[in-house]
Amino acid sequence: MTTLMDSLASLADLIGPANVLSAPDDIAPYAVDWRGAYRGTPDAVLRPSTTREVSELVRYCATIGLAIVPAGGRTGLSGGAVPAANGPRSVVLSLERLSRIRELDARDFSLVAEAGCVVQNVQQAAADAGRLFPIQWGAQGTAQIGGMLSTNAGGIRTLRWGNARELVLGLEVVLPDGRVLDDLRRVRKDNSGYALRHLFIGGEGTLGIITAAALRLQPALKRVETAFVAVPSPDAALSLLSRMMESGADVIAFELCGRYSMEMVARHGVGLRIPLPLESPWFVMVELAAAHKSVPLREILEDTLAEAMEAGEVTDAAIAESEAQRLAIWKIREDSPECSRKDSPAVSTDTAVPVSAVPEFLRVAERELKARWPEGRMAAIGHAGDGNIHVSLHAPAGMTDRPTWVARAGEAEPLVNAIAVSLGGSFSAEHGIGQSKRHAMATHKNPVAMDIMRVVKGAIDPTNRMNPGKVLP
Ligand SMILES: Cc1cc2nc3c(=O)[nH]c(=O)nc-3n(C[C@H](O)[C@H](O)[C@H](O)COP(=O)(O)OP(=O)(O)OC[C@H]3O[C@@H](n4cnc5c(N)ncnc54)[C@H](O)[C@@H]3O)c2cc1C
Repeated sequence: MTTLMDSLASLADLIGPANVLSAPDDIAPYAVDWRGAYRGTPDAVLRPSTTREVSELVRYCATIGLAIVPAGGRTGLSGGAVPAANGPRSVVLSLERLSRIRELDARDFSLVAEAGCVVQNVQQAAADAGRLFPIQWGAQGTAQIGGMLSTNAGGIRTLRWGNARELVLGLEVVLPDGRVLDDLRRVRKDNSGYALRHLFIGGEGTLGIITAAALRLQPALKRVETAFVAVPSPDAALSLLSRMMESGADVIAFELCGRYSMEMVARHGVGLRIPLPLESPWFVMVELAAAHKSVPLREILEDTLAEAMEAGEVTDAAIAESEAQRLAIWKIREDSPECSRKDSPAVSTDTAVPVSAVPEFLRVAERELKARWPEGRMAAIGHAGDGNIHVSLHAPAGMTDRPTWVARAGEAEPLVNAIAVSLGGSFSAEHGIGQSKRHAMATHKNPVAMDIMRVVKGAIDPTNRMNPGKVLP
């Protein structure tokens, strides 16, 4: 029988003792998720630095029956990167040392990055080459390429460039048996059978470990204009969205924020100032962009906002006058999850509906949540441009204990999921399933789709060692 000490020694032989963490203080950060909602302690944390090392570790873990939980920047919001509390013995395999950019070809508009590259570093490398890696969201300074792909992250620019999935040309993946699936090509056309990479994108580490990705780049943006706008209702916001989309400019972000979310930012944001008085029930952050400097973007934005004001869709607007002001507007959006976390315990959701159904979704959610939890405070903030509004129900003022609030109002999450599904939407928009949404898979996922997912999982990971207890109910 292999003891834990034997296993740790063998793992250390493969990647060096400094890269096998087993002291409680060292593994503690890997044993809890970003929200503090999920906890699970691995036997060890492994930190390989090459694809080959990942492959050797996976092979060794297979021989001794240890499960593997891949971890990136650990900013995931569904408990995917933390071992399941009552799961089998496991190790966390952190990709943090696979952090090289292997290749950047500006003429090809592509870049090959290892899984542990921090998303922001990839954005910077692209910018240094006069290119844009367009995905953007609040945790980009910590989240990694492997995590971004494994959750098929969205963010504020999905309406223009799609989710992470749309930005991938090729992948390199270590399979549960240790083999390397080398599909790291940069070709734009390849109809040679099943597009296997799409199983691993959004797979949340249940089918294999992504070790590198070939990513699509865009031309750098030469002009960007951003406005913070007060709107009377989500309906008005959608009319404004149509107007902006028809303006001739590229709309690269369109975020809708309820007043309560902005109040939380005003209360807890460090160095943040909301550019308009908090008198409107709803606010929009809109960004237009152009890849050529001759595009009269400012004029387009001002004219479109003036027309929208005349039509009663906009009641007030502040346009960023400098790059610093532009960044300050986005900081409000990016820091909003942290401000919400600081404010009070909340039951949060991650749903999407067709864009045109956003107003109805918000109306029904507000009505139903108020009816069942009149003491709760509903916050709504999200990506109106792609229909993904995060609704959360905060505890009443003075209640600070998360478990108490979750015990009382936890049912708010399935309720909001059901509203989204009834409007033709999804119960899991961009954060993935992880541990937190498995119950919703059982309720809402099409049974034929579930069957196929189980067959795929069984074919690729027959002994269920890759991230057990995640995604599949
Ligand atoms: C403040 C804040 C704002 C956020 N805003 C958004 C947003 O707007 N849009 C959005 O989509 N998400 C958002 N998120 C969620 C989160 O940032 C994303 O899900 C992100 O993609 C996770 O990346 P990560 O590297 O932190 O992954 P982790 O949290 O480390 O892992 C996430 C999942 O992927 C698996 N995984 C990680 N790396 C690999 C790999 N190399 N191979 C296989 N599996 C792997 C893990 O096992 C886990 O299941 C936000 C999070 C925070 C904290």
